[in-house]
Amino acid sequence: MKPLTEADIRSSFVNATPDELAQLPIPGLHEMLWDEREFLGWRDPQAARRGYIVSWIDDRPVGIVVRSAGGSLRAGIAAMCSFCHSPQPATQVRLFSAARAGESGRNGNTIGSYICEDLGCSMLIRTAPPHLNPPATIAMRGEALLQRVRNFTQDVAKTA
Ligand SMILES: [Zn+2]
Repeated sequence: MKPLTEADIRSSFVNATPDELAQLPIPGLHEMLWDEREFLGWRDPQAARRGYIVSWIDDRPVGIVVRSAGGSLRAGIAAMCSFCHSPQPATQVRLFSAARAGESGRNGNTIGSYICEDLGCSMLIRTAPPHLNPPATIAMRGEALLQRVRNFTQDVAKTA
């Protein structure tokens, strides 16, 4: 993905409350391997349930705050992340909800999705052994992943 600056990130959020913005933890951008990710997703070390997802949409960084549900899915069953479509142990996929942008979100409207608990979908699609995961496959999965992240983000951002 195109690299993000701290200013890009701070100005990108469409559904954050003033408190959430004030407490926003910025991840280490210098060590980031931008070529190996489709979007930036990170969890909040200070607020255990909070996470952040920033992607480029039409050359503009758009960020959303998400909140994970309390319990995990039942251990032992398999689950699938709705972004990267990786099958995973259920304990590594969480239901996240995002407040809708604008008044609708302030009135409590949210939308939810099952997503990798660490929001590390870009890592996950690259971790299979190379013979199962040639560059063409990664590129294809990355493209599909990004499209799903953008669709979810645009749903959250929609104010009408
Ligand atoms: Zn995922």
